[in-house]
Amino acid sequence: MPDSFMRMLSEMTGKMNPETILSSLIRINTTNPPGNETAAAQFLHGLFSQAGIHCEILEGAKGRGNFLAQLGSDDPAAPRLLFLSHLDVVPPGNGWSFEPFAGDIQQGCVRGRGALDCKDMVAAEAAAMLALAQLHRDSPLRGKLIFAAVADEERGGRNGIQYLIRQHRSRIEADFVVNEGAEDPLRLGNEVFYFIQTGEKGLAWSTLRARGRTAHGSQPSLGSNAILTMSRALDRIGRYRPEVVLIPEVRRLLKTLADRRGWQEPLNPQNLDRFLSTWEDRGFAASLESMTRMTISPNMIKGGLKTNVVPDLCEVSADIRVLPGQDREYALGQLQQCAGNRIEIDMPTFHPPSFTASDTPYYRIMEQAISQVCSSASGKPRVICLPMLSTGATDSRFLRQAGFLCYGAEVLAPDFPPDIRLTIHGADERIDINSLHYFTGFFFQLARLYLG
Ligand SMILES: [Zn+2]
Repeated sequence: MPDSFMRMLSEMTGKMNPETILSSLIRINTTNPPGNETAAAQFLHGLFSQAGIHCEILEGAKGRGNFLAQLGSDDPAAPRLLFLSHLDVVPPGNGWSFEPFAGDIQQGCVRGRGALDCKDMVAAEAAAMLALAQLHRDSPLRGKLIFAAVADEERGGRNGIQYLIRQHRSRIEADFVVNEGAEDPLRLGNEVFYFIQTGEKGLAWSTLRARGRTAHGSQPSLGSNAILTMSRALDRIGRYRPEVVLIPEVRRLLKTLADRRGWQEPLNPQNLDRFLSTWEDRGFAASLESMTRMTISPNMIKGGLKTNVVPDLCEVSADIRVLPGQDREYALGQLQQCAGNRIEIDMPTFHPPSFTASDTPYYRIMEQAISQVCSSASGKPRVICLPMLSTGATDSRFLRQAGFLCYGAEVLAPDFPPDIRLTIHGADERIDINSLHYFTGFFFQLARLYLG
């Protein structure tokens, strides 16, 4: 990012630069459950009120505050952009080498739970909006910028985004939404790839049940062992080779990466896995693999009552993720087919996949903002933006279902330290200040391009 741009930003935000905001937010413990996001919303409310920005706190339940702010024109015909992020965090767990809620700044990083998910985004969006408010004090924005830092993302969003969509939709209505959910930038030689999330896989959590007949453990042939029936089904599930499907956005992503790596053949479902096996970065290859097929992962098992009793019941919980275009029936059908007809299947939880096309002016403006902020004067590394599909889920799924156009962004510095990404939802979570500045610069630039 050009130095002059960063200087302008830090002057405009003064003491309220993104790292200061982030460290204050981390110090407010919003572990969900219980959440207590209202405390963090109140902190933002103080900051925004002081800057003269219209803002409010809407509680989905007691203590579950959602912070909303808006800047610019109220004209319904004017362009509207929504910056989304969430205030709650997952429990810190063990293994930290520093205090998870100290929010200290050490070795160029802001440290603590939420530094990457997703208080960094809250801080970047807040700092960008505060900077815009200063810059546009005398010449108002052409359109409206809305900022929503919501509650309860980590546990299904009922008191957060779902509540806002249901009860306060008019307050968050926008032409498009920018949220979390993209992969980290990827450095390949003289190029750096930034990803724009255009969709999320759907989730189909299932229970598989094998039934049998009890008997004395000393005479097993008198019974029918449900654990053995299940183990045969699990063996088939383990060998399941799902159909490879390349949705257009993922095809474009893969094609670009394959070209860069000098892959000679045209990429297709038949040779895709061979291509993926050439990647050294196994984490990224696993992510690409999951973007191109339904996955079934049996993750919990229980069965049996006693060592001397043949079990008559064995149950398995499986995490299944489906691609855009694959519905509940498809997932059930595939699962039944490989588990076999002796297995009963329930699918108590199904969240459909969600998707926003990339051939929109909004997507292009996202690309433009990323390129402008992340390109250096020397032109190296060259910045390239690519669409992607998330294998996990964010609040964007609820918004897309309600008809919103959503994109996910993760605009870290081109040379961000890769080891910090492993700390997301883990111990020693932290973000480098440089990346936080890039992220802030991206939001600032995006709003200027679309609403300035
Ligand atoms: Zn998050």
